[in-house]
Amino acid sequence: TYLLNQSNYKHLNAFNSLVEPSVLLARSGISESDRAEEIGSNDVYDKPIAIKDNICTKDLKTTASSGILKDFVSPYDATVVKLLQDDGAVVVGKTNMDEFGMGSHSTHSHFGPVKLQRYEGEEVSAGGSSGGSALAVATSQCWAALGTDTGGSVRLPAAYTGIVGFKPSYGLLSRWGVIAYANSLDTVGILGKNVKDVEAIFDKLNVYDPQDPTSLPRSTRARLLDPHPKRPDSLRIGIPLDYNIDTLHPTVRKSWIRRLRELWNRGHTLHPVRLPTTQQALSAYYVLAPAEASSNLAKYDGVRFGSRAEGIDGAPGRVLFAKTRGQGFGPEVQRRILLGAFSLSAQAIDNYFIQAQKIRRLVQHDFNGVFARPNPLFDHDGTTSSKKRKGVDILVCPTAPSLPPSLSEVETQDPIHSYMNDVFTVPASLAGLPAISVPSGESHDLPSGTSCNSVGIQIIGQYGDDKLVLDAAKNL
Ligand code: GLN
Repeated sequence: TYLLNQSNYKHLNAFNSLVEPSVLLARSGISESDRAEEIGSNDVYDKPIAIKDNICTKDLKTTASSGILKDFVSPYDATVVKLLQDDGAVVVGKTNMDEFGMGSHSTHSHFGPVKLQRYEGEEVSAGGSSGGSALAVATSQCWAALGTDTGGSVRLPAAYTGIVGFKPSYGLLSRWGVIAYANSLDTVGILGKNVKDVEAIFDKLNVYDPQDPTSLPRSTRARLLDPHPKRPDSLRIGIPLDYNIDTLHPTVRKSWIRRLRELWNRGHTLHPVRLPTTQQALSAYYVLAPAEASSNLAKYDGVRFGSRAEGIDGAPGRVLFAKTRGQGFGPEVQRRILLGAFSLSAQAIDNYFIQAQKIRRLVQHDFNGVFARPNPLFDHDGTTSSKKRKGVDILVCPTAPSLPPSLSEVETQDPIHSYMNDVFTVPASLAGLPAISVPSGESHDLPSGTSCNSVGIQIIGQYGDDKLVLDAAKNL
C-alpha cells in the first residue's frame, strides 16, 4: 500500500528522494516466522519511515531542500536514523521541506512546494517546514516520519494535515547528523497517525548520545524521571488566556472550546493562566533563529560545504563565496542570513539580539510560573517556594491560529504574515518544552462540499514531562 501511494501521490511533492521499490520489496522475502520473532514487542520493526531531508542518511542524498546541498550525500547516518534502522525500521525516502527548515508552508524549497490536496484540483499549504513528512504520513506513503521542530515545524504541518506531531523536550533526542538551523532551538520531532505510533518511535530515540554535546546526560535524564510523583487521574489543565488572540480563526476557537469542555466533562479541572510574554515571543524568535542561522550557514561557501556556483574560474576576491551563496540559497534563507548578520552586528546587537535573549528568559519564566512541577533544569527556580504550588499539569491551546491557506495565497503573502502562523508554537520552543499537536477531532467544511480536519490542538508540558504530554494526548 505504501509503495502504491508513493506512486499515486507523486504530484504532491512530499518526497525529495525515494528508496528503490526493489529494496522495500526485498524485505517481503523475510520469512513470516523470522519476522514474528523479530517483531515481538518491537513496534517499529519493518515499519516504513520517512525522514526529513535535513537529517543525514548515507544511502540517500541529504539536501535540506537547498540548491547549495542539492548533490550532498552524507558519509554517515544521523543517530536518530541509525537507532530506528537498528530496530528494523525501513527508511523509505527523504521528505521535502522549507529550505534548511525556514518557513511555515513548505513552499521555500529548491524542489518546488509540497502540496496538500484535500479534493481534486485543490492546492493548499501542508504547513512547514516538515510539510513533506506530514503529508507523507497523512497520505499513507509511510507509516510515520521524522521531522525537525525549531519553532513549530513539526506541530504546524501536523495540524494542517490532520495528524499527530510531537516535539520532545530540547536535548532528549540526538541532533547528531541533523543539519543545524538554530541549534539552541532545533529538536527532532515525530509525525504519525496516532499518539501510540509516535510514542513507540519516541521511546526508541529517547537515549543519550555522546556525539551530540547538547544531548541530555544520563544523570539529568534520571533526574527527570525521579522523583516523579504518581499522576492523579484528574489533571489540572491550564488555558493560556493570552493565546485567545483577535486573529484566531473562529473554527479554531470553536474546536479549542469544545476540546476543553470535553476534558472538563471527563473530570479534569480547567484553570485560566496568564503567559504575558507570549506577545513578544514571536518577535524574539524571529531575531534569535535567524541570528543562529546566519552563523550556522556560514560554512556553505563552496569550499568547505556546498556545491560551488558554475563558471567560477578561481578569479581572486569574493566572487567565489558571493556567487556560490547567491545562487545556492533561496530568497527566504538569504533574508534570514541578512537579518541574523544585522542583529548580531556591533551596532544592533544590544537592541535586538540581547533584548531577544532577555525575552526568551521571560518566556521560560512565564511557563515555570504556571506549571505545578518545578523546572528540573533549574536548581533555584525563583517561582517555587516552600509553600505548596497550585500550578497546572499541562497547557491546552490551539497549534496554529489559522487554517491552511491556499498555495496561491501563500505566494502573495508577505513573509511577516507567514511568521505569524508560529505564534502558538514558538513559546514552547524558546523554553525547550515538550509539545504535541493532535487533530481536533472535528471536521470542517471545504468549498468542495467535502470536509476535513485541519485544526490541531496543542498540549504543552513542563520540561521533561514528555510522557505526561503523550498520555494526555492519548486521552484527548
Ligand atoms: N516557521 C518557523 C521558521 O521559519 C519554524 C520553522 C521550524 O520549526 N523549523 O523559523
